[in-house]
Amino acid sequence: MATIFTKIIEKEISADILFEDERVLAFRDINPQAPIHFLVIPKKPIATANDISQEDEALVGYMHRVAAKVAKDLGADKHGFRTVMNCNEHGGQTVYHIHLHVLAGKPLGWPPYTENLKVN
Ligand code: 5GP
Repeated sequence: MATIFTKIIEKEISADILFEDERVLAFRDINPQAPIHFLVIPKKPIATANDISQEDEALVGYMHRVAAKVAKDLGADKHGFRTVMNCNEHGGQTVYHIHLHVLAGKPLGWPPYTENLKVN
């Protein structure tokens, strides 16, 4: 099913694109959660992490290599970065076209979900 990311791939809506080739696209997140926050998406629409097939293994590995390349281009290789792929409702997925979040530019802390923990 087409998502907003299909429209970004097709250039129907604009994005701050950092890297593009025939397989993937990397662009800045519209609502950054860190000083550096971009997304790496495959051009092939895959809805969720549950839908990654054996034939997609190289593509998903390539997404990680592009994440590291763009992070390096932005100067975030030495201090490092975090990659996250949310899946479905409990994972916080809102766009059903897989994407790697790449977050960097400050110490990100651990665990990443502390603010969501509730003590009953
Ligand atoms: P999810 O919640 O699915 O893991 O992440 C979706 C991400 O896509 C969110 O961080 C959100 O800010 C980002 N996003 C949603 N719509 C757009 C858009 O139109 N342009 C860009 N650049 N990012 C978007």
